[in-house]
Amino acid sequence: MAKLLQILQLGNPILRQTTQPIYHIHDDRVQVLIDNLMTTLIKSNGVGIAAPQVSESYRMLIVASRPNPRYPNAPEMKPTVMINPHIVDHSDDMVNDWEGCLSVPGIRGLVPRYQQIEIEYTTRDGRIDRQVLTDFVARIFQHEFDHLNGLVFLDRLEGVQDIITEQEYLTRIVPATVEQHKIK
Ligand code: ZN
Repeated sequence: MAKLLQILQLGNPILRQTTQPIYHIHDDRVQVLIDNLMTTLIKSNGVGIAAPQVSESYRMLIVASRPNPRYPNAPEMKPTVMINPHIVDHSDDMVNDWEGCLSVPGIRGLVPRYQQIEIEYTTRDGRIDRQVLTDFVARIFQHEFDHLNGLVFLDRLEGVQDIITEQEYLTRIVPATVEQHKIK
């Protein structure tokens, strides 16, 4: 049965390492890690997770957007495991939006990201897949992809003044965004 893994917190040096590619996708060790990572993500109300966040310094991430209390306007998608991913192309446009991180509890930051990206990755059964991601899902990918290179969202902020507490985010920003969506 899949296990709930411990999520490393900011300050742990593993989060600052560049991760290693995965060569043997069909190995039990890799497949078990995928299952455990998926369970850990779902149980923690995340919309994405990267392997180094659970002490596995390898190039693997999951993008799993869905509406939840942390991100009420997130689009619903099938959770997707991406192994050895890379960005093939990206828009010139960048957009700012709020991000949090399971490894950085209690705060949110306003982070600029590409509005659209084209990515390529290996699936858990060893196929190469290519996809175009936009908006929030593109943002999740870029956030998780940064983890594979030892970066966290704080490194992408334009300034420290773009940090707010989670409480402020949930009580002021989220209600305002929900209201905006109703008007549309
Ligand atoms: Zn993160």
